Amino acid sequence: MPFTLEQPKTVREALQRLADPTGGPSVPIAGGTDLLLDLDEGRVASTRVVSLRRLPWNTMRWESDRLVVGSTLPLARLGTDPAVRRRLPGLVDAVDAVGSLALRHRATLGGNLGRAAPASDVVPVLLALGATVRLVALSGHRDVPVGQFVRASRQTDLAPGELIESISVPAAPVSSYVWQRVRPANDVSQVGVAVARSDSPSGWHVALGGVLPAPMRVVEAEAMLTQPNPSEAEVEVAAQAAARRASFVTDKRATESYRRRLVSTLVRRAIARALRDEASR
Ligand SMILES: Cc1cc2nc3c(=O)[nH]c(=O)nc-3n(C[C@H](O)[C@H](O)[C@H](O)COP(=O)(O)OP(=O)(O)OC[C@H]3O[C@@H](n4cnc5c(N)ncnc54)[C@H](O)[C@@H]3O)c2cc1C
Repeated sequence: MPFTLEQPKTVREALQRLADPTGGPSVPIAGGTDLLLDLDEGRVASTRVVSLRRLPWNTMRWESDRLVVGSTLPLARLGTDPAVRRRLPGLVDAVDAVGSLALRHRATLGGNLGRAAPASDVVPVLLALGATVRLVALSGHRDVPVGQFVRASRQTDLAPGELIESISVPAAPVSSYVWQRVRPANDVSQVGVAVARSDSPSGWHVALGGVLPAPMRVVEAEAMLTQPNPSEAEVEVAAQAAARRASFVTDKRATESYRRRLVSTLVRRAIARALRDEASR
């Protein structure tokens, strides 16, 4: 379906255009790596596409111990920043897992959240890190935890006309993300596991991707990880708890039972990776 492309320079202008019903349904576009395919294949029917690329959201900054990422910052910028690599290694693992380097120079964090894919590599780590999403509308701002924002495939907490402005991520130097794919490049993860160790309150967070209806935290697994350096036995019990808890699908990439087995293996690997990384500093 043909569409017109609008390129507002201010946030207010973008919000006004999205709210304006004349000219048919509108949709925001950031990097376009998901949306252009959706428009092309008719999964999204919009006659007006509002680009966010000229808005002042191509930014990142530290606010005390939180990284605030503008929603249109290309993912590649996160992967190469030394402070992000040191303070949020799990986020860097996840960003590096997304597609190819060329894709990561266009794809954005806001777009990954906006698409809300069950197999997203980024959403699990944002869940494990306890990130929040800042939304903006003509009526004002609101902050939503990522776990409430992503509901199911293509379903988010965004109200009509609302945009993701930024994502706020608490630092977690002990964190990691591991994944499994049929083909490592340009394929979607069968399963992904993110872990992060938090100091306040102390404990581990464990989140899964490639599960239904959306990436999720598994508190049953987290409850088994009571020590900063859990024993092998504790990790094994947590891994089994994660595999039991999640709902998986059988599709062309993997069977339900294979995904379940993968989860327990990847939980073990993710914790080992985070602790190995800490020990090497
Ligand atoms: C070949 C290929 C490989 C890929 N590999 C991976 C992978 O390995 N892992 C992975 O997780 N993803 C992968 N993806 C998916 C995709 O690249 C990511 O989801 C990307 O982060 C989307 O960002 P974008 O800026 O391109 O979003 P866009 O395509 O611009 O937008 C995606 C959706 O979010 C909405 N949106 C965008 N920005 C905002 C905003 N600020 N506020 C509100 N709504 C917004 C749009 O309206 C649209 O619905 C792949 C895609 C392709 C084409």
